[in-house]
Amino acid sequence: MTQPTIAFIGLGQMGAPMARNLLKAGHTVSGHDRDASIAARFSDSASFGWCASGADAVRGADLVILMLPDSAIVDQVLWQGESALSAQMTSGALVIDMSSSDPMRSRENAKKLKALDLDFIDAPVSGGVKKAEAGTLAIMMGGEVAAVERARPVLETMGKTLTHVGEAGAGHAVKALNNYVSAAGLLAVCEALAAAEKFGIDPHLVNQVFNASTGKNNTTENKVEAFMLNGAFNSGFALALMKKDLETANRFIGQVESAAEFSSACLKLWQDADQRLGKGADHTAIYRCINLA
Ligand code: NAD
Repeated sequence: MTQPTIAFIGLGQMGAPMARNLLKAGHTVSGHDRDASIAARFSDSASFGWCASGADAVRGADLVILMLPDSAIVDQVLWQGESALSAQMTSGALVIDMSSSDPMRSRENAKKLKALDLDFIDAPVSGGVKKAEAGTLAIMMGGEVAAVERARPVLETMGKTLTHVGEAGAGHAVKALNNYVSAAGLLAVCEALAAAEKFGIDPHLVNQVFNASTGKNNTTENKVEAFMLNGAFNSGFALALMKKDLETANRFIGQVESAAEFSSACLKLWQDADQRLGKGADHTAIYRCINLA
């Protein structure tokens, strides 16, 4: 079977290692990021072609992968101006939005692209930079079965657990809800560790107990020692992006008219931390806000 030609737009913390895994699997990739300094990081790969614009990258590509910050930017690159990717793609091409985008906007994008004879699936990821590097991300996919199956072999080079969760937008809905659950768990751990420390208990010991008990979660297992208690706060996932995911989840829960009390309270704490810690803060740094409260 001939390999699909792949364009990759957005080569940041996550996009770069994901594109590397495509190259490792033998694919040829045309890449673009608005930060041109990223090109140098791929200079060792003969199968990678740096493109000065997204339009150059997607022309003639079978698959167009987006790994961008949010829906506003996804919509901008797809639809805005003469260089809009939707106007440059070859008929029949498949857009795979792997960014953590807004489910309702993704559903709209699927419809609008279909009208141009372009396919769309949403395939956001979970697992962070480490799993992006290892090619073991969890990927949740939304879209028509045929389009999902077309993307699957390529997605398998970047992820380990691939789940088709529903129609277009469903992947982005599950991703936002997952991050809400994860962010709520992280906050609970921060409050618990801070309280224990005030009572004179070593937070390292508290976390050890959590990991041997029912309080164990992704934060206690993978973040407390690696990024929080050591003051490193360098997991590679920005607090601003987590806040964006919580806004997406909270909005989505409201749109489907489901209970949102807890997610609203959680969102407010992340919004406050974003204001206090400012641009560039890692999401694990929310521990500083809670611990210094
Ligand atoms: P990032 O900010 O490191 O990367 C985004 C990249 O997009 C940057 O390199 C930026 O220059 C580029 N970009 C922005 N606007 C552009 C444009 N108009 N045209 C071309 N390139 C543009 O972010 P990231 O951490 O890689 O996250 C990407 C997506 O993945 C986000 O939606 C995020 O929520 C999601 N995500 C991140 C993680 C993580 O651990 N970092 C985990 C899972 C999901």
